[in-house]
Amino acid sequence: MKIDVLTLFPPMFEGVFSASILGKARDKGIVGLNTVNFRDFANNKHNTVDDYPYGGGGGMVLKAEPIFSAVESLWDPAQTAAPKPRIILMCPQGEPFSQRKAEELAQEQHLIFICGHYEGYDERIREHLVTDELSIGDYVLTGGELPAMAVIDSVVRLLPGVLGNETSAVTDSFSTGLLEYPHYTRPVQFRDWLVPDILISGHHANIEQWRREQAILRTWMKRPELLDNFPLTPKEKRWLAELELKKNQPDSSL
Ligand code: SAM
Repeated sequence: MKIDVLTLFPPMFEGVFSASILGKARDKGIVGLNTVNFRDFANNKHNTVDDYPYGGGGGMVLKAEPIFSAVESLWDPAQTAAPKPRIILMCPQGEPFSQRKAEELAQEQHLIFICGHYEGYDERIREHLVTDELSIGDYVLTGGELPAMAVIDSVVRLLPGVLGNETSAVTDSFSTGLLEYPHYTRPVQFRDWLVPDILISGHHANIEQWRREQAILRTWMKRPELLDNFPLTPKEKRWLAELELKKNQPDSSL
C-alpha cells in the first residue's frame, strides 16, 4: 500500500512513521509512507495557502489550488492509468471513523490524506476532489495531522504481515463486533489479586467460552449499543436479559 499525507507540518509525522508498527511496516516494504507539504504548491510569491473567507467572518480558509496541485502531483488522471486513490479529507464534519472503515481502507492500494488547518477548506476541495471525509470524534483539534496519524495507524496494522501475531488484529475490540475480553500475564498472583482459575486450567474450549462471555459482558457494561448488531445466541440473550433485570434492582452491584 502507498500512503501520502498532504500537510503543512511534515516533521510531525517523522517519529510516528518511523517507530513501532508503522516503522516496521515501512522497513518491511509493506507500506510506503510519504508526506507532501502543500505549501510547496502555492502559486504566489509569499507561498500562502490560505485566504480570507468570501462573505466575511473570522478565520482563514485553505485555498483550493495548492491542494488540487499537490494531489495531482501524486495522481493525475490526465497522466496515469492508475486507478483513482482514496482521497481522504480529515474534518470534524466527516463520517465518524470506525474499525469497519479501517478494514475497508486496508483493501486499497493508494490512500491520500489531506490535513486541514485554520477555519476550514474551500468547499470545492470537498465537492470536486475528495472521495471520503473522516472525523475521529466529536471534538475539534488544531489540525488534521493527529487524526490522520490515528487513521493511518489503524489501517496499516491490518495489512497482512504487519503484526507479528496475525490473530491479534482479528480479536481486537470492534473487529469482532465486541469489546475485547480481559487479559492477564505472569505472575499468577500479584499482591492479593489472582488470575482467574479458568485461564490456567489448560482447557481451551472453556477458556474460549469464558473469553466470549467476558467480551459480551464488557460490551454490555461499557458500550451496550454495540450489541444491537451482534449475533448473540438465544442463551446469551436470556443471560443479558437477566443481568438487565438485576441491574435495575435497587441493591444491584452491577
Ligand atoms: N472550523 C472547522 C469546523 O468547525 O468544522 C474546524 C477546523 S479545525 C480547527 C482545523 C482542521 O483540523 C480541520 O480542517 C481538520 O483537518 C482537523 N480536525 C480537527 N478536528 C478533527 C476531527 N475531530 N477529526 C478529523 N479532523 C479534525
